[in-house]
Amino acid sequence: MDTFTLSTQQCKTTIYDFYKTLEKLTNNSGGKVPYRYPAFLRMCPEYPHVLMLKRTGVFHQPGGVDAMKPGQCAIKCPCCPRPGVNLPPDWASASPENAYVPLHPVPRARCVLPPEALTGFERAQRSFARLVKEMSTCSGLVALDYANTKFSKGYSSTGVGMGVCARHEFVQPNSVGNLQKGERYANMDYIFASLLRHVDPSLMKIVFYDIVCQWWKNLKAQISHLPPLVRLRVVLAIFRFVIPKLHIHMHTMACQLEFSLNLVPGSAQTDGEGIERPWANIGGVASSTHEMGPGSREEVLNNHWGFWNWQKLLTLADRLRTRLDRVRIKYVAQLEAFTVFSMEQEVHVAEWLEMVEAYEADGKKKNPYKVLLKLEQQESQRLATVPTIHRMSASSFLAAGLEVEEQQRRVRVQVELKKAQTTAQQIDVIALRGDLSRSIQRLRTLQATYTPATLLALANRDPLADEQPETKPMFLPSALSTADCQMEPVKDLAAKERELRAAQCVMALVTLRNQLHIKSRLLTYKRLQSRNQDANTRAQSIVVRNETQIRLHSEKYQMAWEAIR
Ligand SMILES: [Zn+2]
Ligand SMILES: [Zn+2]
Repeated sequence: MDTFTLSTQQCKTTIYDFYKTLEKLTNNSGGKVPYRYPAFLRMCPEYPHVLMLKRTGVFHQPGGVDAMKPGQCAIKCPCCPRPGVNLPPDWASASPENAYVPLHPVPRARCVLPPEALTGFERAQRSFARLVKEMSTCSGLVALDYANTKFSKGYSSTGVGMGVCARHEFVQPNSVGNLQKGERYANMDYIFASLLRHVDPSLMKIVFYDIVCQWWKNLKAQISHLPPLVRLRVVLAIFRFVIPKLHIHMHTMACQLEFSLNLVPGSAQTDGEGIERPWANIGGVASSTHEMGPGSREEVLNNHWGFWNWQKLLTLADRLRTRLDRVRIKYVAQLEAFTVFSMEQEVHVAEWLEMVEAYEADGKKKNPYKVLLKLEQQESQRLATVPTIHRMSASSFLAAGLEVEEQQRRVRVQVELKKAQTTAQQIDVIALRGDLSRSIQRLRTLQATYTPATLLALANRDPLADEQPETKPMFLPSALSTADCQMEPVKDLAAKERELRAAQCVMALVTLRNQLHIKSRLLTYKRLQSRNQDANTRAQSIVVRNETQIRLHSEKYQMAWEAIR
């Protein structure tokens, strides 16, 4: 049983395969061996369970197994703060620069689900009203899309939701729960509340979740309606909701500014993607657990996550020490770069620092990282004295103009890709051009109000013979003649556009650098790993996709730079 348990934990060997190996070890010449499979099938999930109880020392506690509390058998993270265990007695009065110590990062929701928790969970499914179609105000989020699909017929569960501590990736006690239909909020609320029972309520917490921008909206109200076992009163002030650093790029700019980890004091460069790593470990058992009954499935999953936590515990000290040594070296280099940068911007530093500190102390204050907001505020001050000329504000008009320009760039790249036939992807150029033409038409209507000189400039030019929507000039304020730019409201708009263009330049450079970094990794991977035609083609199409991104961002930078030169 010990050999099987370790073999399944490490190699994800199935019970059937292990049993067949035993049979062949007994007699591999076709002879009959006694049939013990049903007994073995029962023992396999039972044995790790009994072992877990033994290792928890449950037989020494009064009342034995019956007196156990939910989550008691889980191996807890020794690093995450626990008052009375690993925090100094005066932790609550820590100075602001040390206030990050009590932060307990918690992403998606897991662990030992004792029978009472399971019944509570099922009851929650029936009584919960938050099961209606989830509406998203953000960009297309895959987790939400799955929540809205109907591919769950015939399944009692389509997967599990889980919570780990973000920095050390320990699966938390009572933080795994079944999902019936994608990542529905109802399930995630339950899992989240179940997990919070094991975290000290007075600690500050950072909650990481891929779709936190949608999920947290009604969280407080929903959690108060949960079954009594996990019901708790959530004080939102001690939570910071953020989106992990890789997933945040799929969100709208508004989400990226509100839920960025980079803007949370004390987050200390955590990436928040720790939840993805245990999934890679458990993927190997999915093929056998999806055919099991609920009891066996829970025991098996529990066993694997217990093993995961134990391995984490054994290697944690070494891992943290290696990271600390690496960070000490990097810290010197980063500090030096930051000091030089600050010296170069000396005139702005005091003002910027004040804005950033005000925002960090109170998230409702003006976000200094958002340029458009600054323009909107200036505009609302101006509007107090000057009447408005259109229901869409001037800054929104400019943002719409830049968006159409971006759309043109995307279509241009797609058309070139199609011409060069460098991608296997189906590109519908006609549909793309149709969408773009409609966007341009909408922009022209706005331009007639804000910059009538655009219409004159359009009428006076000679269009090219084969002009397509993606090559049409946009004539945003920066492209108009100097004389036109001197007139109101264009003069004001040109100044605003310069600010937006400057922000565009910075963003384009950051993303361009990122894409070039990816390109170098992709090319190294291709050179070292792609050996046959299939792998080469696949690697080549990934490189082409990356190349289009590079083109998009470099063009974006050049256009923005051209406009403010
Ligand atoms: Zn931890
Ligand atoms: Zn979002």
